[in-house]
Amino acid sequence: MHLARIPRRRYTAGSTPIEFLPHLTEHLAGPNIYIKRDDLLGLSAGGNKTRKLEFVMADALAQGADTIITTGAVQSNHCRLTLSAAVREGLKCRLLIEERVEDSYDREASGNNLLFRLLGVEQLQVVPGGTDLMAGMQKMANQVTSDGGKPYIVPGGASNPLGALGYVSCAQEILAQSFEMSLRVDHVVCASGSGGTHAGLVAGFYGNQSGIPVTGISVRAKKAPQEAKLHELANATSRLAGAEREVPTGAFTVIDDYVGPGYSLPTTEMTAAIQTFARLEGILLDPVYTGKTAAGLIGLAQQGYFPADSNVLFIHTGGSPALYAYPDAVLAEAQG
Ligand SMILES: *Cc1c(COP(=O)(O)O)cnc(C)c1O
Repeated sequence: MHLARIPRRRYTAGSTPIEFLPHLTEHLAGPNIYIKRDDLLGLSAGGNKTRKLEFVMADALAQGADTIITTGAVQSNHCRLTLSAAVREGLKCRLLIEERVEDSYDREASGNNLLFRLLGVEQLQVVPGGTDLMAGMQKMANQVTSDGGKPYIVPGGASNPLGALGYVSCAQEILAQSFEMSLRVDHVVCASGSGGTHAGLVAGFYGNQSGIPVTGISVRAKKAPQEAKLHELANATSRLAGAEREVPTGAFTVIDDYVGPGYSLPTTEMTAAIQTFARLEGILLDPVYTGKTAAGLIGLAQQGYFPADSNVLFIHTGGSPALYAYPDAVLAEAQG
């Protein structure tokens, strides 16, 4: 794999830290838990979309775009970071917001929604859950064109092969860093949503013959369709990165036991995980993605999924601005 051949903008100086979590490790009495701090990536308030946007925005600029169009849910971190990247590049940005939970859009809401407005979104259109989002974005793009602009559509989560290269590069960063630290990473755990993070990591580890297994905790989809989607995306990503081999089907593990009633809807395990990370390690997670992923990490550790002396690396994909949009779920009395 030779990523330096592919145009890339840079939004983070250097690498994000890998840190040991001593109190959580002691609390679980299981594997050693480490965290990759991708919540500290660049652009407004950080998070995993920053890595993907480095490649996607380079493409938008190469194509001469002046307006970026993308889509996400009402508290989308992806929309916040795409808007932030557009601001950084001197471009305009329009957002198509999907109300995945009925009536969940509130113009006055805090969290990422407040940041959409602060960062100066040019247009924000809200559509009901289940809308054909690609068609919706195409319509917005046609409007930009007829106004004399040059639109560029970024798919939801920036989870196309170009965006997923951001997590191929993260896999390479982890391999280099863990070598420097003399840290044998035995297992990686990440959120699995639109899939670019999980698919990119697998493509990167596989393409570098590292053999590190990745377990993705689903925040929305069922296991079987998510694994099939990841396989397709990982292979397209590998081809783009110039890998010599296909990623085998068996390289994907999705656990869908921590979604709860649905995307962005709170679970007691999520609340407990957010409080555990905050109170034991001073690390802020988020209710929609990393809270549920950490609930999966904790649940799996308690079930003996990881050997007791192994080193498990949890990818902190960001999202903490959403904490301020779900105060009741975050501060609820947690069982567990
Ligand atoms: C988008 C997002 C994810 C999921 O990543 P995908 O690449 O879409 O699977 C995880 N955590 C946070 C905070 C996110 O915003």
